[in-house]
Amino acid sequence: MKQSPPPVTAITTAWTSSKPPLLRFLRACYAEFLPETGGALANYIPELGKADPAHFGISLATLDGHVYEVGDTKIPFTIQSMSKPFVFALALDTLGAERVESVIGVEPSGDPFNSIRLNADNHPFNPMVNAGAIACSGLIHSAKGDGAFEYVRHALGRFAGRELGVDEAVYASESATGDRNRAIGYLLRTNGVITENVPDVLAVYFRQCAILVTARDIAVMAATLANRGINPLTGEQVVTPYAIARTLSVMTSSGMYDYAGEWIYRVGIPAKSGVGGGILAALPARLGLGSYSPNLDKHGNSVRGIKVCEALSAHYDLHMLNRSDDARHSIIADYNIGKNPSRRVRRPQEQEILAKHFQEVRVIELVGTLSLSNVDYVSRRLGGGRRPEFVIFDLRRVTATTRAGARLVAEAFKDLAELGVTVILSGIKQTSREWRTINEWTSQLGNIRDFYLLDTAIEWAEDQIVYRYGGSIDFLETTELSEQPLLAGLSAEELTDLASLGTIRTYQPNEKIITAGETATSLFFLRSGVVHVTLPDGIRLATLTAGMAFGEMALLEPKRSANVLADMSATAYEVAIADFERFTKQHPHAGERVMRNLAQLLADRLIVANAKVDLLTSG
Ligand code: GLN
Repeated sequence: MKQSPPPVTAITTAWTSSKPPLLRFLRACYAEFLPETGGALANYIPELGKADPAHFGISLATLDGHVYEVGDTKIPFTIQSMSKPFVFALALDTLGAERVESVIGVEPSGDPFNSIRLNADNHPFNPMVNAGAIACSGLIHSAKGDGAFEYVRHALGRFAGRELGVDEAVYASESATGDRNRAIGYLLRTNGVITENVPDVLAVYFRQCAILVTARDIAVMAATLANRGINPLTGEQVVTPYAIARTLSVMTSSGMYDYAGEWIYRVGIPAKSGVGGGILAALPARLGLGSYSPNLDKHGNSVRGIKVCEALSAHYDLHMLNRSDDARHSIIADYNIGKNPSRRVRRPQEQEILAKHFQEVRVIELVGTLSLSNVDYVSRRLGGGRRPEFVIFDLRRVTATTRAGARLVAEAFKDLAELGVTVILSGIKQTSREWRTINEWTSQLGNIRDFYLLDTAIEWAEDQIVYRYGGSIDFLETTELSEQPLLAGLSAEELTDLASLGTIRTYQPNEKIITAGETATSLFFLRSGVVHVTLPDGIRLATLTAGMAFGEMALLEPKRSANVLADMSATAYEVAIADFERFTKQHPHAGERVMRNLAQLLADRLIVANAKVDLLTSG
C-alpha cells in the first residue's frame, strides 16, 4: 500500500521530568496490579503452560509515535487471538468487503472464543471468534495459496513496524492438539464458508496465532488501528481506513468474546485479547495499549491486562461513548470591518464609503476542528445576521477538518455563492492538509478567494467595497497638499507657502524612507504611490496611499518609532521640522489647525486600536 508522509517525530520530555505523567500512571498501574496472581495459564495448548506467570508488561503508543513502556515489555509471547482483527482487516482489503461479508457475520455470539456454533446462515457469527478467524485465514489462503501465511506475517509486521517471527514450539503444540479448531474447520468447509483444503487453512491459522510479539509491538499495532491504519512509528498506511473502522466495530462488539458486553459497558475501548496473555486496546484518534501477563480468567482474558485497561479508562475518563463537544467554542471572534478595518490608512473618500458599508464585510475567526457540528453552528450563526456581500473565514487557528466538516463547508459555500456572497479564506496555506481537504470539496465553486494574512483579506474586501460604491483606488494619481487630512482647514496661501518649503522626493520600490530609532528631522506628505509602516520586527502597522502624511509623529516625538518603506515607486513632499516650525511662527493659526488635525487623527487611530483589543479579549 502506498506510503504516506513520514510520521511526526515523537516528542520525549527532556527537561520537564524523566517521568511524563502518563508514564507515571502506567508505572502506578504496574505496581498496583503486580501482586495480582489470580487466574491461570492457558494449558489446552500445552506449550503455553510454560509461560512465566510473573511476567507483566504494559506499553502505550501515542499517535504522534511515542511509546511508553513499563515492566516486561520486551518479552516475546504468542499473539494468539490478537491476530484476528489484523487478519480480518487484511482480508477486507485483499478480497474486498463484499466477499468477506458474504461468509462471515458481524453479530456478537455471546459464546466463548472456541465455540463451534454457527449462525442461522451456517456462517461464523463474527471474525473475532475462532470460527470467523479460521474463515478469514481460509479467505487469505484462497487469494494467496501457499504464500498465505507469509502474506499474513508480513502484514502483521507492518502493523508492528518490524518483522515478526514465529514460535515454532507453540505452533507445533497447537497443531498437535487443536482438534476442536479442526472440527470448526471441517464444519466451515461443509457449509461452503471455506473452499480450501482444511489442514492447509488450519496451518495458516495456527501459525498466525504463534506469531511472536511483545507488549510494545501490541501497543504499536493497536495505535495503528487507532490511527486509521497509519502506523504512527513508520508512517505507513498499512490497511485502508474502511477496513480499520470495520475491524474496530467487531472488536467493540465481540473482541472480548462472552465478556464483550461487559467490557464495552465498563471500559468502553475496542479491544482484543489472546490466550497467550496479551490484550490490545485501541482508542480511535487517541492511543494504542498493549499489555502482557499470561494468567487468564475464565473467559480467556488476561487478568492483569483487564485491570490495566479498566484503570486507564476510569482514571482518564476514556470511555469512547462518554464524549461531548460544544460547537459554540468554534468561533473565537465574529465582527464586521467597522470594528476591525485593515491596516491600510484610507483617504477621506474611501473612508466615507467604508463607514457607510462596513456591514458588507463580516469576519468570522474559527478555532479547533472544522467538524460537522462546528461548521453547522457557524453556518447558522452566519445566517442569523444581515446578509453581507463578503464573508472572511479566518482559519489560522483551525487544527483539523473532518470529512463531514469539509462536506458541510462545501454545501454552505455553495449556498453563499447562490446568494451572491463572496467567501474569502485567510490563515491557511494552499500546501496545507486543511486546504487540500476543503479544496477537494469546494474547488468547483467560483466564489472563493484566499489570502494568507487576515489583514490582506480584509484590505482586499475593503477595496471591493470602495469600487462597488463608486470610489476609486488609483495608486498612480498624484494628490495635492490641499487633499491632506492633516492640513485640512489651511488657506490656499498657507498651503502654497508650506509647499514652497517642501522638497519633492521620489522613492524606488522597497526603498527605506524612515528608519526606526533615528532622530526625526522632517515630516512627509505622500503625493503618489504606496508606503507601509512596519515595526523593527517586520510587523506591518499601516499601509498609506497618496494623500496621507507619514512621519508626522515628529511633531510630537523626536525619535522615529517605526520604519517606513515604499511599496511601489512613490513621491512625497518632505518638509523639515525646522522649516515647519518657522512656518507655524509665521502662520500661528495654521500651526494650531495642524495640531488639532493631528490630535483628531491620533484619536481615530486609538479608537480603532481599542476596538481591536476589545475584539480579542471579549472573544
Ligand atoms: N490459537 C488459539 C485457539 O485457537 C487462540 C485463542 C485465543 O487466543 N483466544 O484456541
